[in-house]
Amino acid sequence: MSDSNQIAVIGGGAAGFFTAINIKEINPSLKVVIYEKTNQVLTKVKVSGGGRCNVTHACFDPTELINYYPRGKKELRGPFHQFMTFDTIEWFANHGIELKTEDDGRMFPVSNDSQEVIDCFLSLCKKYGIHIALKKEVGAVSKSADQFLLNFKDGSSKLADKMIIASGGNAKLAAYDWISKLGHSIIPPIPSLFTFNLPKHNITELMGLSVDNVTVSLENSSFETDGPLLITHWGMSGPAILKLSSMAANELNRRNYQFDFKVNWLFEHDLDSAKELIETYKAQHPKRTILKHKCANIPTRLWEYLVKESIGNSAINYADISNKSLTQLANNLVAQAFKANGKTTFKEEFVSCGGVDNKFIDFKTMESKVVPNLYFAGEVLNIDAVTGGFNFQSAWTTSFIAASSIAG
Ligand SMILES: Cc1cc2nc3c(=O)[nH]c(=O)nc-3n(C[C@H](O)[C@H](O)[C@H](O)COP(=O)(O)OP(=O)(O)OC[C@H]3O[C@@H](n4cnc5c(N)ncnc54)[C@H](O)[C@@H]3O)c2cc1C
Repeated sequence: MSDSNQIAVIGGGAAGFFTAINIKEINPSLKVVIYEKTNQVLTKVKVSGGGRCNVTHACFDPTELINYYPRGKKELRGPFHQFMTFDTIEWFANHGIELKTEDDGRMFPVSNDSQEVIDCFLSLCKKYGIHIALKKEVGAVSKSADQFLLNFKDGSSKLADKMIIASGGNAKLAAYDWISKLGHSIIPPIPSLFTFNLPKHNITELMGLSVDNVTVSLENSSFETDGPLLITHWGMSGPAILKLSSMAANELNRRNYQFDFKVNWLFEHDLDSAKELIETYKAQHPKRTILKHKCANIPTRLWEYLVKESIGNSAINYADISNKSLTQLANNLVAQAFKANGKTTFKEEFVSCGGVDNKFIDFKTMESKVVPNLYFAGEVLNIDAVTGGFNFQSAWTTSFIAASSIAG
């Protein structure tokens, strides 16, 4: 059973593979085995980014990059100075995968195919002799003086000199039991990256409509995000909403997903400047009907909806709008109030917030502060980001650092 120089990687996901491959590239003499609980590896990579794998994001300043991580912001500052987005781009290019940048900064393989990443990782494992053991779910680990004893749920066991836990996020706290028994606290997992439900709200009649730039703010809090917003048949989605769900994940959980929020459809305007916008248009075009002539740069269907909401389905001209209606319209343009009732999983990308408490990890090496020779990488940690390639980036960064420490 004993094997010297044996490195056990727990989890056959993005972080597990990236760690295993980089260990072998730095120190080919080490024996690396990936233990995966299911009969498939890299399943999330396969479905990621709608099957295109949003590998990273075109953000090249560590100080700016950390702002995309509601959990892990402080801890990732140092690691990003060791392995950043441009290192990811270079790593993939050196291994035959060119990345391209989309208008919103997301980076994908030029092939638009996540399978290319999987094929690359699998062929490197073959090249380096990394053994992949499937259906090997670690249920418990014990540590002797200088080795780990891994007990699998199928009753078998293995020894390893060093171990890296890259078992990803899990919605169930019990899934972390074996890690907490090793001496690490777990922050209870809760959802992040979800869309807002607005059951029976008439705005859902505009489903499919997206607005380029809005501000969304959570009532009775300082949480505010911006970006595109998509109206769906169940409520609201799109980057601005997903960002808020991530930034305010703990607060929304505390409110049991029943909360008030406001949308500013005009982004750069406030109530006074929105009123001014209407008044200026009114002065220039008093005879025009409000419903048919928008004075703000928003989609026509949204304008018509807001006019009906604010001043009824009227055919009145700008000249005839009352002060009350004008204020009401301006208010709905910059601070329309909604009551969310529940959330819906965002299928394109979802992550759990929570996991191994970061304070147990030395982020210079990714080694546990309580168990020597035990390392962590990826989503198993209490690190998560908004959408856009940032979740994979933290997996690449933490994995590369762990690999360098293990193999160095
Ligand atoms: C649908 C979807 C789309 C996504 N798209 C993107 C995207 O485009 N860009 C982006 O940046 N992020 C995306 N994400 C998030 C990203 O996939 C994760 O952040 C990333 O996969 C985390 O990698 P990981 O290796 O830490 O965990 P995982 O990918 O979850 O891998 C963990 C592995 O460990 C195994 N495992 C767990 N417990 C054990 C155990 N006890 N013993 C042995 N094996 C175990 C699991 O079966 C799994 O294979 C997406 C997520 C989802 C769900």
